[in-house]
Amino acid sequence: MQLTIDLTGRNVWVAGSDRAARQAVRRYEHAGAVVHRLSNPGMGDAGPLPQRPFLVALVDDGDPGWVPLVQHCREAGVPVAFEPPAGAEGHVTLVGGGPGALALLTVGAVEALRDADVVFYDRLAPYRELDALTSAELVDVGKQPGLHRVTQRDIEKLMVEAALLGKNVVRLKGGDPYVFGRGGEEVAACIAAGVPVRVISGVTSAISVPAAAGIPVTHREVSHMFTVVSGHAPLSEKELTHLAGLGGTIVVLMGIGTLPQLAAGLRRAGMKPEMPMAVVERGYRPGQRTTIADLGTIETAASGCSNPAVLVIGEVVRVAEANRNHTEASAELSRLAASLIEA
Ligand code: SAH
Repeated sequence: MQLTIDLTGRNVWVAGSDRAARQAVRRYEHAGAVVHRLSNPGMGDAGPLPQRPFLVALVDDGDPGWVPLVQHCREAGVPVAFEPPAGAEGHVTLVGGGPGALALLTVGAVEALRDADVVFYDRLAPYRELDALTSAELVDVGKQPGLHRVTQRDIEKLMVEAALLGKNVVRLKGGDPYVFGRGGEEVAACIAAGVPVRVISGVTSAISVPAAAGIPVTHREVSHMFTVVSGHAPLSEKELTHLAGLGGTIVVLMGIGTLPQLAAGLRRAGMKPEMPMAVVERGYRPGQRTTIADLGTIETAASGCSNPAVLVIGEVVRVAEANRNHTEASAELSRLAASLIEA
């Protein structure tokens, strides 16, 4: 169960050693509470809690001496929140942030953000909600296509330096860190510097953004495979031939810039011009838009489309259209039924 409680101006006692409690202290301060500290169990001897606290937050620092405090709170009817301790040594967590919707963050991602001292994020991650998810320092290392604000090497350097200072570092990335996310390089940089590192997988846009438009990347008897391709640079003739020959769904990320070459290339490689194709822009964001055409007409149909967008090429695009028509038909039927009842 999760509760959201307004702590503004409330007296909260945070119990636990200074090292273990540092993040909990910051979190409660960030939430607007008036924080009082109990850093060792002996402090409570003289009369455990001065005024009646609104809440006692007990950080798990491994000291069994806190048990009487918990009992005291139970007897006095003071709620106790049990909090995880801050990590002992600095480390880096690469977090997949999903396609931008809060609901598509994993539980692991939410916990890592809660426990972070500093978060390095970029613009594809759900960054607008970060303030509610963490009390950590937030650093925008966002990269616009073609306009690198902070270079990849600099990002790696910043992460490693912060971890070596003893901080819990979160590197929040859009989608999944290992899908065109340079996650492998960032892990390698941490390992080379002797910094402990872990990766929390995220929901990749390659699957979730088509889903936002109602397109399943596989569908029984329509497509039993999907290939995820980067459109960052044009594909070679050989790649185009193999892709066209597979007969499955093709999902392209970063593909707006090379869309004309891709469509022409796949046609050259023998794919039929009637093959349905969709461009899904800004999945799960305000202004989400789906453009559906086919391989022969997509260049014109999608000429106004911009990044971020996911391209889908394959018969599965028709499944979304069929479902949409079905939904529209059901809505029409309901309207008709309602008007008949009224009459
Ligand atoms: N690691 C990411 C992909 C990074 S590459 C992942 O797993 O999703 C960046 C590309 O991802 C963008 O150019 C776009 O093609 C796609 N993308 C990410 N989020 C998106 C969104 N919300 N809507 C549309 N495309 C998105």
